[in-house]
Amino acid sequence: MKALIKAQPQEGIWMEDIPTPEVGHNDVLVKVKKSAICGTDIHIYNWDDWAQKTIPVPMAVGHEFAGEIVEMGSEVQGLKIGQRVSAEGHVTCGHCRNCRAGKRHLCRNTMGIGVNRPGSFAEYVAVPATNICPLPDGISDELGAILDPLGNAAHTALEFDLVGEDVLITGAGPIGIMAVAIARQVGARNIVITDVNDYRLGIAKQMGATRAVNVSRKSLKSVMADLKMTEGFDVGLEMSGVPQAFNDMLDTINHGGKIALLGIMPEGTPIDWTQVIFKGLEIHGIYGRKMFETWYKMIALLEAGLDISPILTHNFNIDDFQQGFDIMRSGQSGKVILNWDE
Ligand code: NAD
Ligand code: ZN
Repeated sequence: MKALIKAQPQEGIWMEDIPTPEVGHNDVLVKVKKSAICGTDIHIYNWDDWAQKTIPVPMAVGHEFAGEIVEMGSEVQGLKIGQRVSAEGHVTCGHCRNCRAGKRHLCRNTMGIGVNRPGSFAEYVAVPATNICPLPDGISDELGAILDPLGNAAHTALEFDLVGEDVLITGAGPIGIMAVAIARQVGARNIVITDVNDYRLGIAKQMGATRAVNVSRKSLKSVMADLKMTEGFDVGLEMSGVPQAFNDMLDTINHGGKIALLGIMPEGTPIDWTQVIFKGLEIHGIYGRKMFETWYKMIALLEAGLDISPILTHNFNIDDFQQGFDIMRSGQSGKVILNWDE
């Protein structure tokens, strides 16, 4: 089968022919129809320090996809051939304390599809049946392919109560942009999102942001004054991974504020602890998606009318994958879909 392979320990990704994966007793084989490019795939493409430490070469990468079940292991129940599905990209061990307590997002032995095991930029991907998420008819294959990052947005945005609250989202990457739509849907008051990229801030505005602020030109405090926010933000969702953005958040959040941290900051990033302590802040780290509570919630939100379609900005045939990676790397895109079926 065709697959995008991290074939060399250097910048780039290559289309190669590899064997179709074996299907274990508890696995499902999915014929991939749509793939989406994640920020993680860009780290792997760029071959940065994290990728060099993490990715075995050669390796089929990718983990955001939607497709159709074509084969099932002998022990698999409750699914059927031909079913439209997506899948949770974190494969958990099932025997650690958190797995056994039903908190699989906290599994200490998590393996990532397309990171630690063969991925879904491929004609076929084999995944454990427990990771499969069937797609309702109302959810298109394109949306099905981006449920993984929508799940990051939903996990982060639903960590704290947003009803009637003033919310600051730092980072208008695809995940920050989708968090705007969720915060709006669940009833936040002011939703302010920051970035240094006007193209992405434009999409965030379309998603319902009260203000989309380019912090390279405008101060967050002037925007708050404009919105007559006298005390500060109630909730912060950090979705940039940029230390300056997190410091802006610590600076502008109200006393007793709550922060959900998704963005991955560089190792050793200094934090202004005095703000954390004297403001009595509550800070939660967010990893992946709750299995499978986040999946139920985000699918229900979509069925209830959550519209994230503006994030789907580009679509390429899989043979034009290089164009897809180039546009994603340029920052002038939302989510990029690669089609295997057309
Ligand atoms: P992304 O890199 O596409 O988006 C980050 C955005 O932050 C970019 O648009 C960038 O322009 C912006 N930015 C740069 N400087 C800024 C500043 N000073 N203020 C505000 N914004 C600034 O990333 P993404 O795919 O949307 O993911 C968001 C973050 O979440 C990344 O750090 C990613 O590594 C992380 N992530 C974490 C998990 C997890 O499980 N914890 C999962 C997926 C992604
Ligand atoms: Zn575990």
